[in-house]
Formats: sequence, structure tokens, C-alpha cells
Amino acid sequence: MPGLTALAIDLGGSHAACAVVRDGTILASRSVPADGTSGMAGLLPALKETLFEVLRTAQINRAECSAVVLAFCGIVSAREKRVLATNAKFNDATRLDLEGWFKQAFGLPFLIENDARLALLGEHSFGAARGTQDAVMVTLGSGIGGAALLDGRLLQSKHGLAGTIGGHMPVVLGGRLCSCGNRGCAEAEGSTVFLPEIYRQQHGGAEGMLSNRKTMGFAELFAAIEAGDKPAIAALEHCLRVWSALTVALIHAYDPEVVVFGGSVLKREAEILPRLQEHVAAHAWTPGRTVPLRPAALGSDAALLGAIPLMEYSL
Ligand SMILES: [Zn+2]
Repeated sequence: MPGLTALAIDLGGSHAACAVVRDGTILASRSVPADGTSGMAGLLPALKETLFEVLRTAQINRAECSAVVLAFCGIVSAREKRVLATNAKFNDATRLDLEGWFKQAFGLPFLIENDARLALLGEHSFGAARGTQDAVMVTLGSGIGGAALLDGRLLQSKHGLAGTIGGHMPVVLGGRLCSCGNRGCAEAEGSTVFLPEIYRQQHGGAEGMLSNRKTMGFAELFAAIEAGDKPAIAALEHCLRVWSALTVALIHAYDPEVVVFGGSVLKREAEILPRLQEHVAAHAWTPGRTVPLRPAALGSDAALLGAIPLMEYSL
């Protein structure tokens, strides 16, 4: 007896992963470029074509699938099955009837959820949060995403914010203006989008290897650190303090058994997680225990695999 099968899409900032998923296995997948220039409406035909292609590759009939599940990089109402707010990309998604479009295209029920929430569901069912009742996920990358799961259930809410905007917890009083309108958010103080500004601010006026960069990623920051660049070392120290403060805030908010870290920055897990763990051990108020911090086990597949537990909740 086969388990549930889903057509799953994980729409991120630069590409959309399209897959056929069954239980904890991705049967076939293919990536579509999606930089947001043609909006969400412009991307839909390519998603449809690619999903039919992965069905053929996996030799699965569309009728064997129970739903199309979309992991979206924005604020989502899973109950109303629509996008409530976006952050610079796919802004037209809030005006689209995605449920109607996917139902017409595939003749299947449609589910949508925030991408970090789906990643946490995936990690909870098949990865680093398996066996826990209470877990928090933090994704460190171009932005900072998050999700919480309490008493075995994903934390969801009418307005879609619960658990997902942890990256917009203020951690620096009067800090840098964030894209959300708040000041000193963890995202504004410790994510790739703001990294050039963070680098220059930590710089103290001295020239560094990356001083003239308009964009930079953490891979370049680590390369500069390895070359002995002092501003790069200071920028990473700032980010480590920001992520540490954020982790303690999330532990105090949700009382998790584990905090799972994903996102591109975690490629340097060995330089990051022990420092955060040390801070949490010293500063989180969790009497008699220390909350373990773990790297995501499923990598970029987590949100796709989260389609299965989301279907189990919703169908
Ligand atoms: Zn913010």
C-alpha cells in the first residue's frame, strides 16, 4: 500500500523546485529559474509544464497524487489558500487565485504554506526534529525565515504571521532600518541582503577587501576571513551576536526541544552552531536543560518533503 503522494513546489528567491514526493522520498524533481522578473502569473505555465515532466520521469499518474502543495517565500494563509504578503518578489501573487489555477491545471486539491513552515514539517517528519513535540526552525540566508511547531502541530494563525516572522524580531534597539519597516530586526542585522552594509558599519573606517561591494554572500565573507580581513571578522562577529540573541528570543517564545537551522549560511555550520550553542547554554532561561541546536538534515529538500505532513493535516 503506497503512502500519500504529492506534487510539490518549493518557490524560493531564485528558482522553483518541482517534485513528485511520496512519504520521505522525492521520486523525481526538476528546477525552474524563478528570479521574480515575470511575477508569479508569468511563472505558472512553466510550473505546470515542469510538474507534468516530473510526473513522466517518476512514472506516476496524476490521479495517484492527492494534492498540489506550494511552499511560498512569503506570508501565507493556509486556511484561505492564498498569499497575504510578499517581500519584493512575486508581488502579484497576493492578487492571484492560485487555488483555482492549480485545480484547473491538475484536477487536484491545492495546498499552500510558507516555505519555512513546510521545511519544519519536513524536518519534523523525516529529519533533524524527528521524535520531538516542540521544535523551532530558523533559516539563515538572503533573509531570515522561521517556523514553530508546538505539541506536535505546526503553529499557524489567521493572519499567517505566527512563527514565520522570527527574523523580524528586533534584536538591536534603534538598529538598521529593515525592509519590513521595523528597526534592528535580526534580518536587517544578520542576513545576506544587508551584509554589505553590516560589513561597512563594522569596518570602523578602515578599508577592507570587500569595502566596495554592493552585494556579497557569506561564502565571500568567510573567504575574506580566511585571508585575514579584519572588517570581515568583525561583520561575522556581529552576525553571530545577532543570531545568538534571536535564538534565545525564539527559545523563550516557543520553548522548543530543539532548534533546527537551515539556509545557505549553514554551509559553514561548524563555525556557527557551536558559538550559538555556547550563547544559548549561558543565556537561555531553560531550567535544568540546554536546548540543542541542530543543522537541518534534509537540506534544500525539506520544504518539498513537508508536503506530505501538510497533506496529512489538511486533506
Ligand atoms: Zn524586519
